[in-house]
Amino acid sequence: SDGPADMDPAVWEKVKNHPCYSEEAHHYFARMHVAVAPACNIQCNYCNRKYDCSNESRPGVVSEKLTPDQALKKILAVAQEIPQLSVIGIAGPGDSLAAAGKNTFATFEMLQKKAPDLKLCLSTNGLALPDHVDSIAQYNIDHVTITINMVDPEVGAQIYPWIFYKHKRWTGLDAAKILHEQQMLGLEMLTSRGILVKVNSVMIPGINDEHLLEVNKAVKSRGAFLHNIMPLISDPAHGTYFGLNGQRGPTAQELKVVQDACEGGAKLMRHCRQCRADAVGLLGEDRGEEFTADKIEAMG
Ligand code: SF4
Ligand code: SF4
Repeated sequence: SDGPADMDPAVWEKVKNHPCYSEEAHHYFARMHVAVAPACNIQCNYCNRKYDCSNESRPGVVSEKLTPDQALKKILAVAQEIPQLSVIGIAGPGDSLAAAGKNTFATFEMLQKKAPDLKLCLSTNGLALPDHVDSIAQYNIDHVTITINMVDPEVGAQIYPWIFYKHKRWTGLDAAKILHEQQMLGLEMLTSRGILVKVNSVMIPGINDEHLLEVNKAVKSRGAFLHNIMPLISDPAHGTYFGLNGQRGPTAQELKVVQDACEGGAKLMRHCRQCRADAVGLLGEDRGEEFTADKIEAMG
């Protein structure tokens, strides 16, 4: 197919076989996340550190943490069992670029040698992104997802209580301003090198819902090829709620209004499942349980 009307045909050419971007491809190509990045360098008010990062994943689940060696072993075993495996992503359980991205890049380096046909992707909050653009280019990372919830530090200060940057903790407006600047810089650096960038935003009613239109303009004008607006998943039973007062998530209708108002490709991402940080298989299925580290070990 020619792809969606609002997408550059050159971009469509790159993503049409990607299960997350193409409604068609997601029946034929499989993706896998490996949870090799446990640390995080910021605090989001909607995050409970016991669970997976919400940059890309559905919160409230705990993924199996792996070392880079275990991840490689698992990926090679899964590739044997699931021939449609085409994309490997690193999406947590913390931030893929925290702790200097050490485990993330160690995993990608081994994969580049052992399984060069697999496409690689990562997701990040963007704080450390400008420092790692060279490595991202070097390992041929196919695309990067940045979670950007605001372009105004006043809004950001209500979402992020602190960040850890240049060996110290920052809070309030200072923290939100640094995070915002790093996110914009990282986005510009990637798109100017021709690396595909998708932006995720978590819609938080009463905090950034109306503001997301501005975020949409800012990221589109800096070359993001997709802007994926995801609902805050607020579930006190699972310890995932916003801030201290149990902020609710948006209704389906509220989410749709904002998605419709934002330009470009949002339609394409409405099938994003917010997969766990250790999801395995075709989109909409999760065969992660078949491939735990113990079972891989037992396979030999
Ligand atoms: Fe949690 Fe992810 Fe936010 Fe870090 S970036 S605080 S892991 S949701
Ligand atoms: Fe694809 Fe969304 Fe799942 Fe990531 S979280 S693998 S973008 S469907």
